[in-house]
Amino acid sequence: SIRAPDSKQTATLQVAVKCRPLTDSEQRRSRHIIQVIDDKNVVVLDPDLSKDYLEIIQNRTKERRYCFDHVYAPGCSNADVYKNISSTIAGVVQGLNATVFAYGSTGSGKTYTMVGTHSDPGLMVLSFRTIFDLVKKDDSKDTFEVSCSYLEVYNEVIYDLLEKSSGHLELREDPEHGIMVAGLRRIKVHSADKILELLNIGNSRRKTESTEANSTSSRSHAVLEITVKRKQKGQYGSQVLRGKLALVDLAGSKLTRILKDGLSGNSRTVMVATISPADDQYHHTTNTLKYADRAK
Ligand code: ADP
Ligand code: MG
Repeated sequence: SIRAPDSKQTATLQVAVKCRPLTDSEQRRSRHIIQVIDDKNVVVLDPDLSKDYLEIIQNRTKERRYCFDHVYAPGCSNADVYKNISSTIAGVVQGLNATVFAYGSTGSGKTYTMVGTHSDPGLMVLSFRTIFDLVKKDDSKDTFEVSCSYLEVYNEVIYDLLEKSSGHLELREDPEHGIMVAGLRRIKVHSADKILELLNIGNSRRKTESTEANSTSSRSHAVLEITVKRKQKGQYGSQVLRGKLALVDLAGSKLTRILKDGLSGNSRTVMVATISPADDQYHHTTNTLKYADRAK
C-alpha cells in the first residue's frame, strides 16, 4: 500500500505575519503604524486615535496587540521566513504534503514573499532549492521523480498556466488522489532552475499579470504544485511515497476548494499574512490580522 511515513500526524497550521518596509513614495506621505514587539507579537496603532504618536507609545491603550507563531519585522528577509518552514518543506521528500500561501491585501507583499527578487529570493524559489538539494544528497537506493503543475483560478474558472492557450478545466473528486483538476498538465523537472523557468512562463500567462493598481488583479489566484514521487525498493517489493507541495499566490480572501486537500489529513500548512506598515492601509492591515488570528 502507498503510505507516508508518519501519516497519522494530524494536520497542522503555522501562521506567520510579515510586515514589509515603507516604499519610497510611502516614506514621504505615510506614518509607520506597525510595531513588532518581538518575534511573536505585533502591535497596530490606530491612526485616527494616534495623532500624538509619542503619547500612544507611552500609554498603550489605543493599540491592538496580536500574537502569532512568528512575526517578521520590515528588515527581515524571505530567507528569515524560510528558516522557520524549511523542515515542513523537507517533509515533502519523505512523502508528506505541505501548503504554503501568502495572504494579504494588494500591495502588502504577497508576490515579494512567494517569488521574491534576485537578491532576496522568495519562498517558492527557496523551497525548490531545498527539494532538489535533498534529492541530490539522498544516499539511499531510492529513486525520485519531481514534477510540477501550475494553474490559475480566475473568476472561479481554472486555467492551465503550463499550456499555451488553456481551456477551462474542471475539479474532480478522485477516490485515490482527492480533489484534482482534470486534464491539468504535469511536467517532469530535474532542477530548481527548470521550475523557475516554468513559473516565469506561467506568470506571463496570468490573466492579470502583476498590475497591482488594477482592481481585477484581486480575482486571480495561482497554485504551483510540486510532486515528489519516491520509489523505495524494499525486501518485499517496492513502495511509492508521494509528497505534494502547493505554493499559492492568493488573490483576496476565501480559500478556494483547491486548498481543501492541502488543509486536511496528512498535511502541514503555512500561512504568511503580509501587511504594510503605512497608516493609510490600517483597515486592510487589521482585516488581515483578524483573519490570520482566527485561522490559528
Ligand atoms: P502584492 O503581491 O501583495 O500585491 P507585492 O509583493 O507586489 O504585493 O509588493 C508591493 C510592493 O512592495 C512592491 O513594490 C514590492 O517590491 C515591495 N515590497 C514588498 N515586500 C518587500 C520587502 N520585504 N522589501 C522591500 N520591498 C518590498
Ligand atoms: Mg502580487
